[in-house]
Amino acid sequence: MRHRFTRCSHWGNGTETTVWKPVGARLRVVCIERTQVVYQAEYMWIDGTEPVALLRSKTKILPDGADLPIWGFDGSSTNQAPGDNSDCVLKPVFDCPDPLRGPDDRLVMCEVLIPEDMSPHPTNTRTACVETYERYRDQEPIFGIEQEYTLFKNGRPLGWPANGFPAPQGPYYCGIGADEVAGREIVEAHTKACIDAGLAISGTNAEVMLGQWEFQIGPLDTVSVADQVWMARYLLYRISEDYGVNASVTAKPILGDWNGAGAHTNFSTRAMRESYDAIIKACEALGQPGKPEEHIANYGTGYEERLTGLHETAHWSEFRYGVSDRGASVRIPWQVAKEGKGYIEDRRPSANMDPYTVTRLITETCCSALAED
Ligand code: ADP
Ligand code: MN
Ligand code: MN
Ligand code: MN
Repeated sequence: MRHRFTRCSHWGNGTETTVWKPVGARLRVVCIERTQVVYQAEYMWIDGTEPVALLRSKTKILPDGADLPIWGFDGSSTNQAPGDNSDCVLKPVFDCPDPLRGPDDRLVMCEVLIPEDMSPHPTNTRTACVETYERYRDQEPIFGIEQEYTLFKNGRPLGWPANGFPAPQGPYYCGIGADEVAGREIVEAHTKACIDAGLAISGTNAEVMLGQWEFQIGPLDTVSVADQVWMARYLLYRISEDYGVNASVTAKPILGDWNGAGAHTNFSTRAMRESYDAIIKACEALGQPGKPEEHIANYGTGYEERLTGLHETAHWSEFRYGVSDRGASVRIPWQVAKEGKGYIEDRRPSANMDPYTVTRLITETCCSALAED
């Protein structure tokens, strides 16, 4: 793996200076080609910000061919450690090519560990997700997650007028044209980046509110889908940054008659992909006493504002499943009812949910019930 850097002459203020830039990066003048034997690894982790954790990242320069080592960070700056004992450990768990810097560079998702005994940090939700997946992996659970998000610029959704509101919702969902959508260049760049990174992105669409979009990741197993949703979020935040735009996963960005942003979580096991009995069993398991409350409490913040019973949601305090019902908590798609097998869609998770927690809970609740057969 050779990372190529280019030596460039760069004129500014009448003086000539020499700079190095990765091949492919934009700069005014390019002169002599050289080869340098390092690559960049962008280490990322989920922090301790409450109520919604943020993604953090920093860059490590590594010799060509070197494995990704364990690293660390200052947990006192991320709400993960006190100042007098601030070190936290970063353990690489999933990595892929970095489509923004170049194919030799890596994006690296890490788990956060406590240095004293290398145990999972309380903010590390991935460890428990892996444990649950290992317990039920013989049922072959898979997920497809629909990540909705809203692009913001100058404190308002992209495409919105400086004062007041755009025309009411109606033409924006899957819209085409400058009056119907805003931010497509970001969406296109993000989709291409996800594909180049090797992520299982399965589609995108413009959403019901102007400036709101969606991408889907999956189907993948309980842990991989969550790793990849976080990685795709990283690429979205990072690409939007280049446009001076903030991509937000807030659950209800604009109060009133405007759709919220969710993360519909589609789920199946091998049994569900083979029989309708298993589909119903999974829906019933999600409705067992105590389960709706437990799930909602772990499906991200802002659900009271988003799950109102309007705008294609069920009220957060009730649990209901139904065929083709976008006003239900859990929807059975019509093809699934017709074919008598397939998957279910949990419509409750907020856009700001932690996918490690959501896929762990659904796997636990449904697979434990299905295991009783
Ligand atoms: P919607 O009609 O709700 O907008 P989408 O097309 O956006 O649906 O998303 C459907 C998701 O369901 C996709 O991410 C897809 O990968 C996923 N999916 C399809 N089949 C299965 C399955 N058998 N198990 C789990 N997820 C599935
Ligand atoms: Mn969708
Ligand atoms: Mn959607
Ligand atoms: Mn959906």
